[in-house]
Formats: sequence, structure tokens, C-alpha cells
Amino acid sequence: MTSEPSSTVTGHCLCGAVSYQVETQKKDADVCHCGMCRRWSAGPYIAFGHNGPVAFSGAENIGVYKSSEWAERAFCKVCGSPLYYHLLGSEFYALSAGTLDDQARLSLSKQIFIDEKPDYYEFANDTPKLTGEEFIAAFQAEGTE
Ligand SMILES: [Zn+2]
Ligand SMILES: [Zn+2]
Repeated sequence: MTSEPSSTVTGHCLCGAVSYQVETQKKDADVCHCGMCRRWSAGPYIAFGHNGPVAFSGAENIGVYKSSEWAERAFCKVCGSPLYYHLLGSEFYALSAGTLDDQARLSLSKQIFIDEKPDYYEFANDTPKLTGEEFIAAFQAEGTE
């Protein structure tokens, strides 16, 4: 942990019916290549992980789909933009990086479920690449930090 003060990060969906605000010092974007994320978001899902409360406006426009026993995925009911992946029973939200208002703050920190990545694309970013199994083990070891 650094002593860097947290700043307010805001974001919104394509149509603007849903917007949100979080307090964080994080700048990391993670790419998930898993089959579920790709089917959901049309390509690899780039997530801005946030462990803490998210203040939403237009929450009545949020549709939620429980995609597994442990997580749900949310989207804007008006424009269909993916909004976040949420680990049930926690405050961990993998916000869609594409919804952030200031994406210049982001740097790509890691790629996960690399074993599920199809061959037709390849990120040039030099990041750690974790298989699904490696990611889950690391996630459980360090919590949601
Ligand atoms: Zn929308
Ligand atoms: Zn995924």
C-alpha cells in the first residue's frame, strides 16, 4: 500500500443513463480473456478493479445477470453497455474500463485466463499473463487487493 491519497474516479455508460463514482488510488486495468467475458463484452473484458463501495446514479437502469454461483454482471438496460462484474458477497467490482471517464489514468497490469484466449488477437502490452488456475490461486491468496 502506498500513502498516495485516493481520488475520485467517475464513469458512465454509452447513453449516460447510468453513471458512477468511486474513491480509489488504483490505476490498474486487467484484461480477462475468458470465454464468458468475451461472450458478454464482445472481446476480452478490460476491467478496472475496485474493492469498495460504488456510488451509482441511474441505478434503476442497471440490469443484473447472475452469471455464476459467485458473481453477477451488470449492464445498462437502455444502451446495453457492460458496466461491471461483481463478486457476490463482497465489495469487489471489476468495472468496465471502457466506461471510465478518464482512461488516461489506466495502465494495463495483467492478463488473466490467458489459457482461454483465442488465437485471432494478441495484446502487444508486456504484462504478466496468468492462466485461469493461476489467477484463482493468486486471487484467493491475496484476497481482492
Ligand atoms: Zn446506457
Ligand atoms: Zn473473464
